[in-house]
Amino acid sequence: MSVIDDLTTELSRLPGIGRKTAQRLTYHLLRQPAAQSRRLAEALVALTERVQPCTRCHNLTETPLCALCTDPRRDGTLVCVVEEASDIASIDLAIGSLLARVAAEGIGEVILATNPSLEGEATALYVQRQLAAQPVRVTRIARGLPVGGDLEYADGVTIAQAIAARRDM
Ligand SMILES: [Zn+2]
Repeated sequence: MSVIDDLTTELSRLPGIGRKTAQRLTYHLLRQPAAQSRRLAEALVALTERVQPCTRCHNLTETPLCALCTDPRRDGTLVCVVEEASDIASIDLAIGSLLARVAAEGIGEVILATNPSLEGEATALYVQRQLAAQPVRVTRIARGLPVGGDLEYADGVTIAQAIAARRDM
């Protein structure tokens, strides 16, 4: 397999990139200065080598604790749980550390902000059941968001309203 085929194959594995687009991108990279492609390659290597889950909250970070966890202005008694719907394994993994945090850090409330989809509702219910034995308030964000709509695509005002109108589970 040639390096051109090789890169085309790798690019076509990216979400939303078909074989034709991958080919176009490969030829685009061939036409641009070598230094630019080198920077792209270095950024990819740095991404895979330096980005890791935060040891406390599983947010992505380049340091053991992420910027959110080290921010002294944040309310340490409040945890907001978000999902990565496509990654059940990481949710299962994060549940254990969430339970440990709630017990160890005196968390007063856990807000479940999983997506308002079937999968998100199921995840919220699962997390709520796991937390049921602990003396912590568990709330669910309001349905200000369209059902099936992703948090990722909601604007700040909509998210703020959904959090303000949260209810106990
Ligand atoms: Zn963190």
